[in-house]
Amino acid sequence: MADKKTVLILGGGIGGQTAANALARRFNGRHRVVLVEKEAAFAFSPSFLWILTGERKPAQIQKPLTEMLRPGVELVRAEVTAVRPIEKIVETSSGPLEFDALVISLGAELAPEKVSGFQEAALNLYALEGSLKIAARLGEFSGGRVVVLISSSPFKCSAAPYEAAFLVGDFLKKRGVSAEVAVFTPEPYPMPTAGAEAGAALRGMIESKGIAFNPGRKVSRIDAQAKTISFDDGKTAFFDLLIGVPPHQSPRAVRESGLANEAGWIPVDGETLATKHAEIFAIGDVSFTALAGGKALPKAGVFAHAQAEVAAENIAALFDGRAPTRRFDGEGWCAIELGNGLAAFGGGNFFGEDPRMRLHEPSRSWHAGKVLFEKWWLAPFGLRRRALGTAMRLGGKLKGVSVRV
Ligand SMILES: Cc1cc2nc3c(=O)[nH]c(=O)nc-3n(C[C@H](O)[C@H](O)[C@H](O)COP(=O)(O)OP(=O)(O)OC[C@H]3O[C@@H](n4cnc5c(N)ncnc54)[C@H](O)[C@@H]3O)c2cc1C
Repeated sequence: MADKKTVLILGGGIGGQTAANALARRFNGRHRVVLVEKEAAFAFSPSFLWILTGERKPAQIQKPLTEMLRPGVELVRAEVTAVRPIEKIVETSSGPLEFDALVISLGAELAPEKVSGFQEAALNLYALEGSLKIAARLGEFSGGRVVVLISSSPFKCSAAPYEAAFLVGDFLKKRGVSAEVAVFTPEPYPMPTAGAEAGAALRGMIESKGIAFNPGRKVSRIDAQAKTISFDDGKTAFFDLLIGVPPHQSPRAVRESGLANEAGWIPVDGETLATKHAEIFAIGDVSFTALAGGKALPKAGVFAHAQAEVAAENIAALFDGRAPTRRFDGEGWCAIELGNGLAAFGGGNFFGEDPRMRLHEPSRSWHAGKVLFEKWWLAPFGLRRRALGTAMRLGGKLKGVSVRV
């Protein structure tokens, strides 16, 4: 076909997979959909929390990337080394690739080396390998103080470290181990972008479980030998077991692309996901959407997923010569694991003058919904996946919330 165009998608995580699959479905061979990813396998990171407690094994939450992609998506297994927006070229470890439209969904990189002592002392909650190590250490933990440390903001999934604290506390209690669980964070309250009300409600849940919440604490260094964390206010805290969320940064190719802001993230039009170049879109953790009150849209899979659908539809419109009219509405939700088979649910709209999330009462059905979402995400395309999606939407309706799958 003479006018066959190419969409290049960088990153095969939550956002990249969604964008690639949505485009392949729409184009049905009319245009090329090429996805570049450095890893061979995809791991569903929300399930790392169940790795901690032994409820999941890696094989249950990890799949070859090829199984996550629809027919029609061409996969290039390579590292993106440079993005050249003006020339419409992406450099990769297996050579340059040209594009007519580009979706950047390279996520946020973990940078544990930015905190002195982190790599020696802390187990990394945000990596599959780290979660497995935490599970092993929890299994043999004989008592003492477990600290969950958030190194810096922004970090992805603002609820995950708190979920880890709940699950660890619950796990050790069930094992009959006497342990104190404490969270240290630079945030003023949990999930600040979700609003003060949701933050206070979550803090209440944390403290009601006997978990010590220490806000406004920015780590300066960790001493693996002395088992202490030093904070930039001069205070220190000790730990017997340290579970850490490392600092995040954008991938080097993004920082050097000319598309990023000073912090390294790519500013986008929050509704269309377009960057300053009309045919280049950035979605998910690597993107930056400014919100009211000087805040930024949190880094979460639920946003990467919704943004990918929007970017895909707008690219399809551009290729068809139509105006790109699809808009992201700023809706987001998350189920927050509390342990003992319970979860809370937060949902809301982050756009407008007063972004906030409403926290719903904990229940077993929110936890069941989170499990259903995991099954849906990892299910092969076909009848089973469609049935799981319908179950989720219906379940959400019954609970009075809107769940986009
Ligand atoms: C423990 C944990 C729990 C979470 N729980 C939730 C939850 O309950 N709900 C929720 O909404 N979100 C959750 N998240 C956050 C969610 O996983 C991320 O926000 C989401 O994955 C972002 O999607 P993305 O496509 O932007 O980036 P990713 O999914 O991180 O994908 C980026 C991809 O780019 C690839 N890549 C990076 N650099 C290069 C390069 N140079 N060359 C080639 N490929 C590259 C990476 O290998 C990766 O596959 C959780 C995260 C963690 C760690």
